[in-house]
Amino acid sequence: MSDPLPPGLYIVATPIGNLSDLSPHAARVLSGADLIAVEDSRVTAKLLAHIGVRKPMTPYHDHNADRVRPDLISQMADKAVALVSDAGTPLISDPGYKLVRDARAAGIDIHTVAGPCAAIAALTLAGLPTDRFLFLGFLPPKAGARATAIAEVASVRASLILYESGPRLAAALAALRDGLGSRDAAVVREISKKFEETVTGSLDALAARYADAAPPKGEIVLVIGPPGEAAPAAEADVDAALEEAMTRLSPSRAAAEVAETLGLPRREVYERALALK
Ligand code: SAM
Repeated sequence: MSDPLPPGLYIVATPIGNLSDLSPHAARVLSGADLIAVEDSRVTAKLLAHIGVRKPMTPYHDHNADRVRPDLISQMADKAVALVSDAGTPLISDPGYKLVRDARAAGIDIHTVAGPCAAIAALTLAGLPTDRFLFLGFLPPKAGARATAIAEVASVRASLILYESGPRLAAALAALRDGLGSRDAAVVREISKKFEETVTGSLDALAARYADAAPPKGEIVLVIGPPGEAAPAAEADVDAALEEAMTRLSPSRAAAEVAETLGLPRREVYERALALK
């Protein structure tokens, strides 16, 4: 038995692979909570078994959150309610932000038990600048929306962090190369698990590598370095290079060559090539 906790909301980060990454503080809070709000009770039951705890659990996920949130918040007035997700830090590409928002509005005490987060863990492995970074969560699955989302951040001077799945990795890398140019990047997979792997290279090289391979298994984070420091090529230089290249190549190949040489997003150069054609 552990000491009961004062009433309130306790946001508890849990391991993203290695169960021993559960902190003693997290274990103490989960042991002392009256109720644990979970994404999937089977996943959290395994974590609780690991620390020898049995607790009432209530589902809180994308499909029931709006319906169950008011009741959960009223329980926080006299109960210690912990919030966990299946892995990592709740609220980060996981449910919880509206629960915190509404709990705050209701005057509930809110505590966070900081811990593992795949985005931050991947950033530490990538060997790319860490002084400024932008977390993008998951890109939209459809090609058009994905290209728009990438174009929106193309000029941001920061490393980019994205969550991705194995089956979508090759398409995502190709879209990122087309939208951002061939920046340095890292594919970080299965962090803190048996088959942990970090593959680094240019977006061009990584897009080519995964285009030809079977989709990698497991969970993936992409980290992409910021745009280069060089002054952007003048429009006239781009046009001249394109005009020359299009005497030898199709617009799409010419755009690829010029984008690579001048370090520009391939999609942008291709649009210019079509306009010049
Ligand atoms: N809240 C979680 C966190 O703090 O990292 C993220 C939840 S999000 C629904 C799940 C995504 O996180 C996965 O699809 C994958 O992109 C990434 N992820 C989670 N665990 C990972 C791991 N061990 N290695 C690599 N990526 C991981």
